[in-house]
Amino acid sequence: MTSYKWEVGTVFASREEFKDTVIAYSVQTRRGLRYAKLDLVRVRAICQEGCPFWLYAAKMSEDETWQLRSMNLNYTCGQSHRVGIMHTGWLSKAFRKKVESNPKVKIKNLVNKAEKEMEFDSDNFNGNKV
Ligand SMILES: [Zn+2]
Repeated sequence: MTSYKWEVGTVFASREEFKDTVIAYSVQTRRGLRYAKLDLVRVRAICQEGCPFWLYAAKMSEDETWQLRSMNLNYTCGQSHRVGIMHTGWLSKAFRKKVESNPKVKIKNLVNKAEKEMEFDSDNFNGNKV
């Protein structure tokens, strides 16, 4: 399946939108991404130790939007069925509601895709609750 396409320069409505996208992407690609840096002006998401993957977003000075500034989408790690950044219940009602209540959130389709993937692959999660 096609995963989310990161492009340097992409603008996100807020830090939360960027983080939600990282989470959905993490689920889609089955990689345990985590945040190496997470503060009010920048967020850097990385993969496992030794893996060169990263995503770096920074707040734009004039308003509340965030922009993807640099990235490295090359992995050296394998895909994992264990996704560290989230739990099996990551698509909680709260998260879904948030996405659905905000038509500007571009990750809605991504979330739907990830959800389908999870359903399709649910055997892997049964008895393997985090
Ligand atoms: Zn990796």
